[in-house]
Amino acid sequence: MARVKTHSGGKFGKHLTCEMQLPGRKKSGQILALGHLDTVWPLGTLRTMPFREAGGRLWGPGVLDMKSGIAFFVFAARALRELDIPVASKVLLQLNSDEEVGSESSRELTEKNAGRSKAVLVLEPGTGLEGKLKTARKGVGDFTLVVRGKAAHAGVDFAAGASAVLELARQINRVAGFTILSRGITVNPGVISGGTRSNVVAAEARAHVDIRVLKLKDAPGLEKKFRSLRPLDPRCSIEVTGGLNRPPMERSAGIVKLFRMAQKLAHELGVEVEESLTGGGSDGNFTAALGIPTLDGLGGVGEGAHAANESILVDRIADRTAMIAKLLAAL
Ligand SMILES: [Zn+2]
Repeated sequence: MARVKTHSGGKFGKHLTCEMQLPGRKKSGQILALGHLDTVWPLGTLRTMPFREAGGRLWGPGVLDMKSGIAFFVFAARALRELDIPVASKVLLQLNSDEEVGSESSRELTEKNAGRSKAVLVLEPGTGLEGKLKTARKGVGDFTLVVRGKAAHAGVDFAAGASAVLELARQINRVAGFTILSRGITVNPGVISGGTRSNVVAAEARAHVDIRVLKLKDAPGLEKKFRSLRPLDPRCSIEVTGGLNRPPMERSAGIVKLFRMAQKLAHELGVEVEESLTGGGSDGNFTAALGIPTLDGLGGVGEGAHAANESILVDRIADRTAMIAKLLAAL
């Protein structure tokens, strides 16, 4: 049902592109369907968290994020073939292997294929137990702060030391202040480490900080604030690296149009779908930033992505699959 090509993922697994063989003689333009094959779960997780059906749900690592979305797409394509429903566009399915770790090796391929498409359908899970579609996503980035101070014996030679831990603590307080909730800008110092023993004035400390922006125009200012950090204790130094790695998916007119189309098609199936904004990034951020209308969250309906309760609702499998099929035929 598809012509499949593999693409090197460098240090990650291979990426796949599948040129779907769908009914309809004349094809004009291309639709890109996007998914990822990797999950956040380590190898061997299936031993403690096996795939199972219980309580009207399917459970297991990656079932929501996003094995189900890929399965829905494949079955949607199969239904179009079996029912001989013509699809006017060429349909390319791209499955990346490194989305959960930033899409470093797949980004170029995603952007190349999106650039040739009139629309991008992202098979990531919907939002919440209602399965809202995603019409906006925040941009995501990270910074690493490394503070170097001067080690000393905390009892014998305290004054000779310059504590990197103390300096980092002050800097964390400063960067946390970059958050502007009303503008959708958040700064999260998520991981800190530093020092060796409590009786040593710490020579080094570091923090990994997650940043999110709703609007691309807010990114340069935020990045500048990070790069302008200077030590409060002049005996310490700060090294700042990082920046934005996924631009925000901003809710454009093209995205709204695509959403309205999906909403209408779902309504025909007796399902009301709404739209949502999420702080989480996906490969849809890249395609939307190119100006290609991108509709995200078309996959599984459930909860617990990246968590032990990861699951999808069985009774939402059929309508999601049908909505994808109808979109492919309508676009
Ligand atoms: Zn995902």
